[in-house]
Amino acid sequence: MLVRILAVSDQIVDRIYTLAPNGHFRDVDLILGCGDLPYNYLEYIVTVLNKPLYYVPGNHDPEFNPRDLRSKAEGGINLDLKTVCYKKYLIGGFGGSVRYRPNGTNQYTQMEASQRAFQMMPSLFGNFVRHGRALDILITHSPPFGIHDDTDLAHNGLKALNWLIRTVKPRYLLHGHTHFYRKNISDSETTINGTTIINVYPYKVIDIP
Ligand SMILES: [Zn+2]
Repeated sequence: MLVRILAVSDQIVDRIYTLAPNGHFRDVDLILGCGDLPYNYLEYIVTVLNKPLYYVPGNHDPEFNPRDLRSKAEGGINLDLKTVCYKKYLIGGFGGSVRYRPNGTNQYTQMEASQRAFQMMPSLFGNFVRHGRALDILITHSPPFGIHDDTDLAHNGLKALNWLIRTVKPRYLLHGHTHFYRKNISDSETTINGTTIINVYPYKVIDIP
């Protein structure tokens, strides 16, 4: 079995508006959003492709409020700190970035991010009991610390994600938040201890066996 993913993050790609209705993504099984995108862009992709969408919020997205339609993408599922089983793939989500402004939305200190990672443990442990593994794919907004991140505070990666990679060992981590044109980020894909870390900015089609 193979799942084909369309992953998007951080920047609207105008080409998507012509590629999607013309069948360019017809083999895509699943849409994953890694944050910092207007929800009407995600809603457009879901409507045209008619495939499930799971996403996490980024630091430029509104705070999630189940009663406020503007704080979520209709037709999609906010996967922040949750896990889901899509076909046989276990997918988890971890939104937000490092805190760089005192009142910034979806921003967390390294300590707060670690506490959030810890909140995922019960569902990850449940997956492990039921499926013999905790997670196949982790979608995040931030990169892990020291991987595809940058030295300015706003683009520091989250150490909690390094911890999750070590502990949970997902096969893939898909993230956004950092952009390639930054000087010390040259590659969008890194494999560490069996986890392939992919920067999806601004979009990528990924086949997962
Ligand atoms: Zn961001």
